[in-house]
Amino acid sequence: MAYWKGVIEEYRAYLPVTEKTPVITLKEGDTPLIYGPNISKKLGNDLKLYFKFEGLNPTGSFKDRGMTMAMSKAAEDGAKVVVCASTGNTSAAAAAYAAHAGISCAVFLPHGSIALGKMAQSLIYGAKVIAVEGSFDKALKLTRELADKYPVTMVNSNNPYRIEGQKTAAFEIVDTIGDAPEYHAIPVGNAGNITAYWKGYNEYYKKGLSKQLPKMCGFQAAGSAPIVLGKIVEDPQTIATAIKIGNPYSWKSAEAARDESRGLIEAVTDQEILEAYQLLASTEGIFCEPASAASLAGVIKKNKQNYFVDGQRRVVCTLTGHGLKDPDRAVSICSKPHVVKPELDEILKVLNL
Ligand SMILES: *Cc1c(COP(=O)(O)O)cnc(C)c1O
Repeated sequence: MAYWKGVIEEYRAYLPVTEKTPVITLKEGDTPLIYGPNISKKLGNDLKLYFKFEGLNPTGSFKDRGMTMAMSKAAEDGAKVVVCASTGNTSAAAAAYAAHAGISCAVFLPHGSIALGKMAQSLIYGAKVIAVEGSFDKALKLTRELADKYPVTMVNSNNPYRIEGQKTAAFEIVDTIGDAPEYHAIPVGNAGNITAYWKGYNEYYKKGLSKQLPKMCGFQAAGSAPIVLGKIVEDPQTIATAIKIGNPYSWKSAEAARDESRGLIEAVTDQEILEAYQLLASTEGIFCEPASAASLAGVIKKNKQNYFVDGQRRVVCTLTGHGLKDPDRAVSICSKPHVVKPELDEILKVLNL
């Protein structure tokens, strides 16, 4: 039986690698595209919602797709130390792939704004973890200064190989459903992923592997929506920490994806994000992290405005990361477990039997 070889080997022809590139892989990619019958029905309007569940990558987010490329190229260039600033998932991926490659890794995180699971990952993978007081954007600035002056390889979004690896998610979607969907909804933080999907869809389209291109629908958190507002947000605020970014690196290319696809980039509130987050878990059995649910929150909002009008209505939502990254959030919004004495009567009461 053929087994999955990781995104570099599976899509080698589309990626800037050669025989000389040592492939550093944890067999990322091949994530499921899950049809959501219950939410599709609830939304009506003939919508068919599919969820690309990127939480099932080796470190629990789509960042692994970019990191296999970035780390393989770093290894090819003989890098000794890799560094990144991160809202948590990039650092988890960098730390894991660096460990696999035998390269040292240092990560810079905004102090107090990181989900516990992500912090645990960076630590256990053996990275040097530095919590910088202030926002992600400040941590990124410091990382850049460091990389400018010292012999370290930066694996943030400025590393062009990240986008190359991440575009493979679009390939997988087309390979799965036989064409691009009509709409693609995605959370937007640093805006690398929306850029990567648009690149991937276009490459397949130009090769004749899909008949159409999707409209790209990006969603930022309302308290952290620089692209929507058209200006840098100095002090971004949102519970969706993975997209808590006030000055996205790939701002221009995200706008290009939006405009070329005749799509949109809009904001959703934390309340809308949390409702979508809970809905996905409780009605489809898919537990993603809060930031990931911005895609579904956006689709729900746009559906109310009758945005999805033309022809077929397949909507793919990227669910960027796994819910177990941030279990505190789930526990805090759900009702508490029933504590009972160890007696059947007590349990019957709780179950109304
Ligand atoms: C990184 C990340 C995002 C944002 O992706 P960008 O490429 O920065 O726009 C969204 N959700 C999760 C879970 C992430 O880790």
